Amino acid sequence: MESTLSIIKPDAVAKNVIGKIVDRFESNGLKIAAMKKVQLSQADAEAFYAVHASRPFFGELVSFMISGPVVIMVLEGENAVLKNRDLMGATNPKEAAKGTIRADFADSIDANAVHGSDSLENAKIEIDFFFARREIL
Ligand code: ADP
Ligand code: MG
Repeated sequence: MESTLSIIKPDAVAKNVIGKIVDRFESNGLKIAAMKKVQLSQADAEAFYAVHASRPFFGELVSFMISGPVVIMVLEGENAVLKNRDLMGATNPKEAAKGTIRADFADSIDANAVHGSDSLENAKIEIDFFFARREIL
C-alpha cells in the first residue's frame, strides 16, 4: 500500500469538476484517505513548490495556485504514486494521453487541473506538509 498527495487545482475547482476528478481516483482503485478544500496563502504555495523556486514560471505558478480554492487529498492504494501520475496525464494537457484527467479537464500547461506527487519520497513530504496524522483515515 502506498499513499500520495493529490491537489485539484483552482481551474478545476472553478469548473465544478471536483466530483468527476475524484471519481477517476475511486474508479481506479484509489481510496480517499484525507480530503479538504483550502484557500492557499502565498507563503503556503511558495513553500509547497519550493523545488521550482528557480524556474521561470515560479511566480505564475504561485499566483495561479492562490487564485482560488483547491481540494487537497491523500490517495491510498497499490502503486498509488505512479497510478495517480498515470491517471493525471502529462504536465502539458496538449501532450496528455486521451482519457487522462489533464486531457479531459485542463486548459494549459499552468492551469492543468491537478497536482500529484512524483515519487514516494516526495509523497511523504507533501502529505506531511498539508495533513496531520489524525486527519488521514
Ligand atoms: P507536474 O505537475 O506534472 O509534476 P512539474 O512538477 O514539472 O509538473 O511542474 C509543476 C507545475 O508547474 C505544473 O503542474 C504546472 O502547473 C507548472 N508548470 C510546469 N511547467 C510550466 C511551464 N513551462 N509554464 C508554466 N507553468 C508550468
Ligand atoms: Mg511535479
